[in-house]
Amino acid sequence: MRNVIIIGSGCAGNTAAIYTGRAGLKPLVISGHEPGGQLSLTTEVENFPGFPEGIMGPQLVENMKQQASRFGAEYLSGKVEEADLSKRPFRLKVDGEWHECRTLIVASGASARWLGLPNEQRLIGHGVSSCATCDGFFYRDKKIMVIGGGDSAMEEANFLTRFGSEVTLVHRRDEFRASKIMLERCKANPKIKWLTSTIPVDIFDASKNSVEAVRLRNVTTGEEWTQEVDGFFLAIGHVPNTQPFVGQLDLDAEGFIVSHGGARTNIAGVFHAGDVEDRTYRQAITASGAGCKAAIEAERFLEAEGH
Ligand code: NAP
Repeated sequence: MRNVIIIGSGCAGNTAAIYTGRAGLKPLVISGHEPGGQLSLTTEVENFPGFPEGIMGPQLVENMKQQASRFGAEYLSGKVEEADLSKRPFRLKVDGEWHECRTLIVASGASARWLGLPNEQRLIGHGVSSCATCDGFFYRDKKIMVIGGGDSAMEEANFLTRFGSEVTLVHRRDEFRASKIMLERCKANPKIKWLTSTIPVDIFDASKNSVEAVRLRNVTTGEEWTQEVDGFFLAIGHVPNTQPFVGQLDLDAEGFIVSHGGARTNIAGVFHAGDVEDRTYRQAITASGAGCKAAIEAERFLEAEGH
């Protein structure tokens, strides 16, 4: 029986592990299906305080893990398949085995969203990707398309110009959600071409198991055309990883955890941290801050119960 189990090994989970580890609670961190969270899929992080020259995302999250391990946090690789939060101890099934805990910190984050195009899923890993850092290398001197109008799309488009012969950024509106600095950086990059008020309709050629072209539609005029492309990168936001908690934790319409103040959920002893609840800020530093809050609440909860 664990004092605390932390689900997720991104900034939120690792920070919660550092704090609960230092408090002597010997946390178990369940790494999840995307170990390291979103930072492990990103490139340079320039806005995490303490790194004036910036730091690579995967390195930052690895540093956090090492820091937590130093204070006794243990890591279990695997995904939570089922959760029983109906009574205490809480129970979690990971790869067929049940684990029990007195308090639970849900820091399971949010995963990349897909468009749902007819051939999209069949071409994942064969030209369709949601991770420029992971797959950009394969598109040296190739034609690349990036979908989205937020900071992720800007970051990915900019990064991909290191490899591709050209990068076309496709966005469904003609205004951008991205921050001014990221948008301006992209606008100044001559390798990036822009297609606004445009959506992808399908990707070809699934029969050849590779991306060769994308069918596009202008949403204002209705005009459709096909553009040759070798790599198709999605950067259209994320969906929260809360499937095991449906019907148990209070979730909003999109599945994000609804906070009951601080790091509390509707169930006493279950706390939230990071992107699984945060629809607004979604930054590495805010996720770390949330992990810290959840850890302190878990600590106080256990102390009040005499553990
Ligand atoms: P986001 O801000 O939610 O942007 C998602 C983009 O995808 C939006 O432009 C949206 O279009 C578009 N989109 C969503 N669903 C779509 C669909 N079905 N078809 C076509 N387009 C679709 O997500 P994000 O860019 O991943 O950023 C998430 C958070 O992380 C933000 O807070 C961001 O600032 C932060 N972030 C920061 C950095 C950095 O500072 N280095 C880097 C990356 C991300 P609409 O605009 O029309 O809704």
